[in-house]
Amino acid sequence: MRKTIELCGPKKVFSGARVVLAAGVIMMSSSVVSAQSADAGFGPANPFYAPSALPFHAPPFDKIKDGDYQPAIEAGMAEELNEIRAIADNTAAPTFENTIVAMEKTGALLQRAQVAFSGVTGANTNPVLEKVQRELAPKLAAHNDAIYLDGKLFERVKAIYEKRESLKLTPEGLRLVEVQYQRFVHSGANLSDADKERLKKINEEESTLSNAFRSKVLAATKDAAYFTADKSALAGLTDAEIAAAERAAKQRKKEGWVLPLQNTTQQPYLSSLRVRGTRQALFEDSWTRAERGDANDTRETIARLAQLRAEKGKLLGHDSYAAWKLEDQMAKTPANALKFMDALVPAATANATGEAKDIQELVDLQKGGFQVAPWDWEFYSEQVRKAKYDIDEAEVRPYFEMNNVLENGVFYAANQLYGLTFKERHDIPVWHPDVRVFEVFDTDGKPLALWYCDYYKRDNKNGGAWMSSFVRQSKLLGTLPVVYNVANLPKPAEGEPALISFSDVVTMFHEFGHALHGMFASSEYPILSGTAVARDFVEFPSQFNEHWATYPSVFAHYAKHYKTGAPMPAELAAKIKKAEDFNQGYALTELVAAAQLDMQWHSLPAGAPLQKPDEFERAALEKKGLTLSYVPPRYRSSYFSHIWGGGYAAGYYAYLWAEMLDDDAFQWFQDHGGLTRANGDRFRAMVLSRGNTEDLATMYEKWLGSAPNIEPMLKYRGLEKGETKKN
Ligand SMILES: [Zn+2]
Repeated sequence: MRKTIELCGPKKVFSGARVVLAAGVIMMSSSVVSAQSADAGFGPANPFYAPSALPFHAPPFDKIKDGDYQPAIEAGMAEELNEIRAIADNTAAPTFENTIVAMEKTGALLQRAQVAFSGVTGANTNPVLEKVQRELAPKLAAHNDAIYLDGKLFERVKAIYEKRESLKLTPEGLRLVEVQYQRFVHSGANLSDADKERLKKINEEESTLSNAFRSKVLAATKDAAYFTADKSALAGLTDAEIAAAERAAKQRKKEGWVLPLQNTTQQPYLSSLRVRGTRQALFEDSWTRAERGDANDTRETIARLAQLRAEKGKLLGHDSYAAWKLEDQMAKTPANALKFMDALVPAATANATGEAKDIQELVDLQKGGFQVAPWDWEFYSEQVRKAKYDIDEAEVRPYFEMNNVLENGVFYAANQLYGLTFKERHDIPVWHPDVRVFEVFDTDGKPLALWYCDYYKRDNKNGGAWMSSFVRQSKLLGTLPVVYNVANLPKPAEGEPALISFSDVVTMFHEFGHALHGMFASSEYPILSGTAVARDFVEFPSQFNEHWATYPSVFAHYAKHYKTGAPMPAELAAKIKKAEDFNQGYALTELVAAAQLDMQWHSLPAGAPLQKPDEFERAALEKKGLTLSYVPPRYRSSYFSHIWGGGYAAGYYAYLWAEMLDDDAFQWFQDHGGLTRANGDRFRAMVLSRGNTEDLATMYEKWLGSAPNIEPMLKYRGLEKGETKKN
């Protein structure tokens, strides 16, 4: 009954939709027949057959072969269904122990096989594993439904839920009952049979439309790529970029040059294209990609999706889809999320207006003779950036040698804050020779966790960076956490040092923040343990940990020249810190605009007519004061894959929400003496070790002494009080 999750990369990097992937598996439809069919057999020879005998129950990667996963996972699903069946069919009256706790003990085989599988398919995959993954994805989804829509099981859970106050449970036990009950209800277990049927139909249509949306956007994004037969239109691009554009054209069997589109509204090439007409054309290709009236136009699809989701929200007892979606989140209601986002708008737009003024000055200085438009933003802001903050990567990198950053930065901060110590272990099997393993010791010298890092980029690794667990901490199961971080840092040539960029440094701190959330877990029940929290909370510990990367005493401890050991010159260090504020008015405005669109689409009431997406979008942005012509939303409704094709419907605000928490929390540290063991221990005891064992808003407020504040977020983005910041 436990799920693995993957946690994403550093904040201010929002391109990937890969924050939390249930079971770490991306759903794909496929009829490919796997080379590893279930009849490959499952028995004692399979390395997943029995619990791992390695320290911390670490997966025996030295014994696991590609063909071992599928039989183990399929046997694991069957075993868990049997265990669940036994609980549901128990003739004894339902009790906390024989139902709720019993459920926590199910699925052990599935869990140990699935976490290892998720780990290798993410970080070290191959065609055989990919096939298995495609084949298992729908089975795993159906497996989950089979549990949460089991009427008999739900009856028992409900009976316990209804008398929970009289059962004298521990606070964590009470929380477990409530969380489990909510999961069933959230999935529709409480509906009449007729409504369950309707829900099933809605879910099917939603999934079909969502798939259709994904295919259309994929095709639209490919088709709408910018094309020119005139090379001079590409002035400003490097020779290598022009050669790539020529290759892209050849692949499409065209004579000329093609600039493929990225998923966001703004396009990277816009920062260097000198011909204004080219910029405008490229921007418009991006903006209208899915609205061209052809087979890949998504507008009808999303209008229907919004309508269908509104009906789903109502069927499940809420005013809107967003209200249903947020019931188990920290924000709890769309009104809370909207209030938060509304409060960001004045500061964000005021600063974007100030940034636009700088840009307009530059345009005028260069006698451009036009008003700045969205397609000009990247081009001129890049010039402003160069003039104000240009940082020479070659000058910076020698101060960020990866292993030094790890041991004297990431580990050092964890030692200073929480008293942790680390010892590398060479006896734990890994999935690739680049992986390192450390045993983590608590303040009293006792083993706390096992931590792996797999930092170097590989072609068979997913992009980005993430954290996940092989073993989730649980007192009930007697398990200590085994967690890992994966990233895509450049691998140096043999014998050369791994010199990384500052943003890579921040990634290491970020992912280690997730790791700490997993390693400090101190829960009775696995389902409430560690990083098993709501989406609008899960990025909080990781983003919080990023702050220590620039904390003076930590920075000084690791930012040293790899050859001479000399500290980074103060001037260079100051530049790095200052550059973090650049363009934040624009960046925040485009994010808030996208998050507002998401929330408004999903706040439509059931029975609302089919919307016209362009009109809806215009009205939605106007209503929220997001009317700056030169700051379009980061994603337009018609190609907003996170919300129509990914798992982020009514959830895009979560990125910003978690940012409010992490900046607010860091401000608390600053106000209470900064980096001290006392502050660290208190944060660990009241937040990092608590997982989902208490209502998250309550947990946060107890620690802080008040509800979260928005001001620190504006301050750390350099947008304090909505005043235009002059550098
Ligand atoms: Zn993350």
